[in-house]
Amino acid sequence: MWTVASYVLRQKLSGKKRYPLVLMLEPLFRCNLACAGCGKIQYPAHILKKNLTPEQCFKAVEECQAPMVSIPGGEPLLHPQIEQIVAGLVARKKYIYLCTNALLLKEKIDLFKPSKYLTFSVHMDGQKEHHDFSVCREGGFDIALEAIREAVKRGFRVTTNTTLFDGTDPNSVRGFFDEMMSLGVEGMMLSPGYSYDKAPDQQHFLGRARTRRLFGAILSNRKKNWKFNQSPLFLEFLMGRRHYKCTPWGMPTYNIFGWQKPCYLLQDGYCDTFAELIETTEWERYGTESGNRKCANCMVHSGYEASAVDDTFGSLAGLFRAAKATLFGGTYTDEKAAEALKHPFPAAPEQIVPLTIKESKREMETV
Ligand code: SF4
Repeated sequence: MWTVASYVLRQKLSGKKRYPLVLMLEPLFRCNLACAGCGKIQYPAHILKKNLTPEQCFKAVEECQAPMVSIPGGEPLLHPQIEQIVAGLVARKKYIYLCTNALLLKEKIDLFKPSKYLTFSVHMDGQKEHHDFSVCREGGFDIALEAIREAVKRGFRVTTNTTLFDGTDPNSVRGFFDEMMSLGVEGMMLSPGYSYDKAPDQQHFLGRARTRRLFGAILSNRKKNWKFNQSPLFLEFLMGRRHYKCTPWGMPTYNIFGWQKPCYLLQDGYCDTFAELIETTEWERYGTESGNRKCANCMVHSGYEASAVDDTFGSLAGLFRAAKATLFGGTYTDEKAAEALKHPFPAAPEQIVPLTIKESKREMETV
């Protein structure tokens, strides 16, 4: 918190209008899962085989200067030099979130050392049945659970990241929070799914009104022991309690193609340098207010969490709002939301994608 606060204040004092908060570093697109809602793994085989080198990763981190680095993918544990990348970022005192589906975590955990700079952010989309359905892999939940237990036991920092889609049962998500907290994870991260054009399942992305309704039901009347590793104001945004404009430069993305315009979710071209990304992107073309069709339903953390953080540290009023939400926001008592939990939300979808994994995917797990 202190690192982020002092970084944001330094940016504000230096008069920077656009500054990055988290670098989204995608060292590869390969994955050992094929989730129905994913828009990242549909590249041809010759692209999926490519990796960023550790040197390319360090150069991107130095150019961008964000205090936090999130390593999604693909599945980063499939990268042949992931331990060098992580060690190099720890040496640079960057706070790393290594986003993994954890299928390989137990097997590869000896590659890493516990550090305050390293957090395993494990992809868990809900309770067992829901998670396995979401990642199209039977047994995926149990493997991830085992890996979380092992990582916590060994003294690693562990958080979870959960993407929610239409048809999610809020009571089940609340039960999932209880399960995760009992495992000893440090905090949970949530986001609605983004409606990638390339995702195989196009029917279950949430519109804005449904996102607010779902998150309102899940996060109101919350239990005191639930810990979220996110800005409390971003969670209020998801619940429909406050409005933010998108900050697409807040979480810039670097991958094998270069710096991606304008955000983690859209691909409107690439730049060779971070400075070029900031200077040449037509930022006014993006965000819900821009009228851009691709941004219309987006409430994803990679666009809006940085807005909440900027709001928090941008003024005393923002700081007060965040402090109030953290210290006194407490349980967000809401009778209407409690009532909504008693009535069935739209039934969970029929199976859209079979719970199987192709042989080629199994082979990739052993690469
Ligand atoms: S609204 Fe969403 S898709 Fe559009 S620029 Fe912002 S983060 Fe990207």
